[in-house]
Amino acid sequence: MLQVKMPEAYKIDMLDVPVPAIKANEVLINMKRLGICGSDIQVYHGKHKYMRFPVVQGHEGAGVIVKTGEKAEGLSVGDKVTIQPQVFCGKCYPCQIGHYNVCEHLKVFGIHEPGMASEYFAAEASKVIKLPQDMSFDQGAMVEPAAVAVGAVRRCGDIEGNNILVLGAGTIGNLAAQTAQACGADKVMITDINSKRLDIAGDCGIEYCINTKEKDIGDAISEIFEDRKADVIIDCAGVKTTIDQAINNARRASKIVVVGNFKEPVEIEMPLLQRREIDMIGIMMYVKEDFEEAIRLMQEGKVKTEKLITDYYRIRDFKQAYEYIDHHMEDVMKVMLTFEA
Ligand SMILES: [Zn+2]
Ligand SMILES: [Zn+2]
Repeated sequence: MLQVKMPEAYKIDMLDVPVPAIKANEVLINMKRLGICGSDIQVYHGKHKYMRFPVVQGHEGAGVIVKTGEKAEGLSVGDKVTIQPQVFCGKCYPCQIGHYNVCEHLKVFGIHEPGMASEYFAAEASKVIKLPQDMSFDQGAMVEPAAVAVGAVRRCGDIEGNNILVLGAGTIGNLAAQTAQACGADKVMITDINSKRLDIAGDCGIEYCINTKEKDIGDAISEIFEDRKADVIIDCAGVKTTIDQAINNARRASKIVVVGNFKEPVEIEMPLLQRREIDMIGIMMYVKEDFEEAIRLMQEGKVKTEKLITDYYRIRDFKQAYEYIDHHMEDVMKVMLTFEA
């Protein structure tokens, strides 16, 4: 079978390897779709802080079960599935209190452990999540990023009636804003400096889409959220500009949720955090319930993912996909890899 391996930054090998044998508690999945994530692009550029080459990438996948081990309960051949790509120890303190997404020994498929960029992928049944049979494979591969958004909104606490500001209208920001709307927020505003991303946000039904190159973010907050301003600001960009926007525009007694993957340390205005009693909260990926909630929201049509997929490439053209992304950073949202011949 075809397996795509990255021996070093900017280099991609197409290998022919045997189809993996499965253990009793595993299933074999014939992969159908694989989404390329911002973190994958960091790996491709050799800029990801916490990984080592060589690596088989891929953590946003969907496929069909073609074989089940005798102890893989609840799963059958023919099931459409996605995979929760976290490996955790189950023993450390965070694991014991249910926060296995921040396990002290956390490993992620496609970053520290082999990912799904293979025609067939063997996965432990406990990490395999069934998709509704009428869900498309495109949607199936979008469940993982949608689960990131669900996890982020969960970390906001009860947002019923809240004003939510999402910074960054890339895939995760878009999905976080849609999720916040679906979870009973009052007003949801999303900002970016990329008009194409904001257009997609509008097409997905996000109420207020603001280009901060054209409009001052503080003015937009006052006009749209009025005196109450933002109850929660979710930073999905992970750069100094947006975290500064968050701190400088956070209302007294409000929250900032940090979702974006910062590439480097940044200096922030700590006195404002202290004096305004701002809660700053980090979120790392998700737990299984976030996948289930993401699937439910997508099935109910409350979170739409079709418009987020801007480009398709065959898995054999992985390298071309990255080259395209490198030259069209401004235009791409989710680039989807397909496994058809
Ligand atoms: Zn991802
Ligand atoms: Zn652990």
